[in-house]
Amino acid sequence: MTRPVGDPTAVELARADEHGAHNYHPLPVVLESADGVWARGVDGVEYLDMLAGYSALNFGHRHPRLVAAAQHQLERLTLTSRAFQHSGFADFCDAVAGLCRKDAVLPMNTGAEAVETALKLARKWGYDVKGVAPDRAEIITFAGNFHGRTIAIVGFSTDDDARVGFGPFPPGFLTVPYGDTDALAAAITPNTVAVLLEPIQGEAGVRVPPEGFLSAVRALCDDHGILLVADEIQSGLGRTGETFACDHENVVPDVYVLGKALGGGIVPVSAVVADWPVMGVVGPGQHGSTFGGNPLACAVATEVVRMVETGEFQSRSRELGSHLHGLLAQLPGVNQVRGRGLWAGVDLPPNGPSARTICERLLTRRVLAKDAHEGTIRLAPPLVIERDEITWAVEQLADSLQMSD
Ligand code: PLP
Repeated sequence: MTRPVGDPTAVELARADEHGAHNYHPLPVVLESADGVWARGVDGVEYLDMLAGYSALNFGHRHPRLVAAAQHQLERLTLTSRAFQHSGFADFCDAVAGLCRKDAVLPMNTGAEAVETALKLARKWGYDVKGVAPDRAEIITFAGNFHGRTIAIVGFSTDDDARVGFGPFPPGFLTVPYGDTDALAAAITPNTVAVLLEPIQGEAGVRVPPEGFLSAVRALCDDHGILLVADEIQSGLGRTGETFACDHENVVPDVYVLGKALGGGIVPVSAVVADWPVMGVVGPGQHGSTFGGNPLACAVATEVVRMVETGEFQSRSRELGSHLHGLLAQLPGVNQVRGRGLWAGVDLPPNGPSARTICERLLTRRVLAKDAHEGTIRLAPPLVIERDEITWAVEQLADSLQMSD
């Protein structure tokens, strides 16, 4: 997709490339303002956001309740560090723990940090509570996983782009095929302290595991005294039509890892949530973050929880998700559609245009969507989207699939 030299989008894209690291390949659009599900580019065009910041914008851009909570806090206290307590911390912890029906919350900022926190917590629990010999703890993960970009996390990624060139990696992680309970059972040893999973694999292309998989993992963890750690960073907080994707199988993990939408699309907020027998293994000096649990983050995240608690966003996702999936199921020229609620991975036939090409075509039709790997388009609109906006977006997708460049 090329744009005429001198147009504001081309100018901004070129400027960004000059001093911005090239670790992303953004679609050729430059956004400058947004409201709800619509974002406006520097080209003056209004785009329908069908990505929602990879689910960080579940409540849409600048939701009035969240902006008000942030503004209220901005005028009072924004940062204390954890050296001092602040007046919004207890409310935040009560709210997040209550939503997860757990005892305790450890706040961080990004998703990757929260996953690292959960891994550390699981190892420490393994040594202190389970009695694993020092430095022998093992954690089982699944092929196709995406849990972030730190050295430990990319070390157990099965995506070469994410992993290759960044070793050596910390030991103690095993990877088995996603959805394969027998492989998981075979990988368990007396040193296994945790199983880390995404209840739906987002970056892998919105892969929903086989029915019964989450319950089977829960049962195996119970049988072997292993922590089940659910990374609900992308799947949680209403995205799939339930508060958590684990709820679809009534599975309660030992540890929830939350992020993205917890920050209301305003600030990065992540959290690890567990009961005291697990959370209690970390003491002062063993883990922390300068910004984790800061007053601004807590104010926004507490309001996010208040909004999620109403159940409104879960029902919107359920009802509008069935409209979205109903339309996608009738779409000609696609191989497979997966997903739950307002979250879909649309697989394209191998010999046709790439998912990137289709996303570029969608952009020319004023729809923002993103490819997940070569052949999958991922759709995850803000949960405040309206039914006719979904219909319109799928019409644009149908046209984009039929277009030639
Ligand atoms: N875990 C999951 C399931 C994710 O989808 C992501 C990001 O896409 C992460 C972790 C990492 O989050 P962050 O980019 O905030 O570090």
